[in-house]
Amino acid sequence: MSKVYPIGIIGGGSAGVMATLRSVLNNDETIFFPGTRRDKKRSRERWVMKVENMPGHLNYKRGIVEPNKESLEWLSEGVFKEKFHWMKDLGIKKIQTKDDLFELTDSEENKYLCEHVILCTGVMDVQPHIQESIKDILPFANKQTADYCLRCDGHHVYGKEVSVIGHTSSAAWVAVMLYERYKVPNMMILTNGEKPDFSEDLKKLIDLYKIDVYEEKIDQILGDVRSGKLDGYILCCGTSVHTDITFISLGMIVYNELAKQVEAKLDERGFVLGNSKGETNIQNFYVAGDLRANTKKQIYTAWDTAVDAADDINVKIRKKKRERLLKQYE
Ligand SMILES: Cc1cc2nc3c(=O)[nH]c(=O)nc-3n(C[C@H](O)[C@H](O)[C@H](O)COP(=O)(O)OP(=O)(O)OC[C@H]3O[C@@H](n4cnc5c(N)ncnc54)[C@H](O)[C@@H]3O)c2cc1C
Repeated sequence: MSKVYPIGIIGGGSAGVMATLRSVLNNDETIFFPGTRRDKKRSRERWVMKVENMPGHLNYKRGIVEPNKESLEWLSEGVFKEKFHWMKDLGIKKIQTKDDLFELTDSEENKYLCEHVILCTGVMDVQPHIQESIKDILPFANKQTADYCLRCDGHHVYGKEVSVIGHTSSAAWVAVMLYERYKVPNMMILTNGEKPDFSEDLKKLIDLYKIDVYEEKIDQILGDVRSGKLDGYILCCGTSVHTDITFISLGMIVYNELAKQVEAKLDERGFVLGNSKGETNIQNFYVAGDLRANTKKQIYTAWDTAVDAADDINVKIRKKKRERLLKQYE
């Protein structure tokens, strides 16, 4: 384990791949861990299908996985291939500081030393439980009649009857905002058995916009799982409600375990805090993408934060080399 990699990148979604691309193109030797099959399955990377809010993505069937694969394959065959170590299907399960370095332990117990780390393990949206299971909503999520992200998919509601699943003020804001933006013919909020916890201002808007709020648990989804066409829900009281499209607003699971292991600071929701370049309170330990606090949870933000981190590390690497050369020169 004597080899020291200048940069270790953990996570193979939008942020991890952009951090890798930028680092390797900066000519910095980089070891890249995209995660195990399980890591990928529980990441947003895997569940994004059509990307419509960014130029040039419409032809991909899987809007993150496919363009990422193209870039990684290009890197692994191109002029910089010696600098790129692609640890396919490996995830990192443990990280600790060792002197000035980070020791990474992968899912097969191999260990690696890195000078700098960019952590890009992302987040996952919380799914609604229907009859104690999240499975029923997934076919509709796959076909995007159940959506999560306003900036990515808010426009899908245009002209449709819409429901929002959630019980907090955040969920109510989603309903209010979609109603105001797209003037949808019908909007409702399903709290799925939870007590609504809306601010007084939101209660007034819900009233004004005639948004129906149903507090009963959802018993069944009506629709076609193969095509993903959503028709509505049957609630536990027996009432059936019609909806063409659902927005799910139940919060996020933040994959911050590795940040916690090195004692990087988190915000109150568990997102990792970084400076303007994404460097955390732990020197040379960076965060990028959805995991980073105070950022938009979007592909282009993941790219931007990844580039900031990779370029900042490159500044440090070049400075170190330059200083060494200047010392020899004197
Ligand atoms: C349904 C849906 C649709 C969306 N549509 C859009 C859209 O149209 N446009 C848009 O801009 N944004 C969209 N988003 C948001 C977008 O998916 C995220 O902003 C983006 O994926 C964030 O990238 P990331 O790299 O931070 O995280 P992710 O893409 O979630 O990637 C996390 C990566 O970390 C890896 N990982 C996890 N744990 C480990 C570990 N221990 N070791 C190694 N690797 C690990 C996983 O394998 C995965 O590769 C959508 C999100 C959802 C849920």
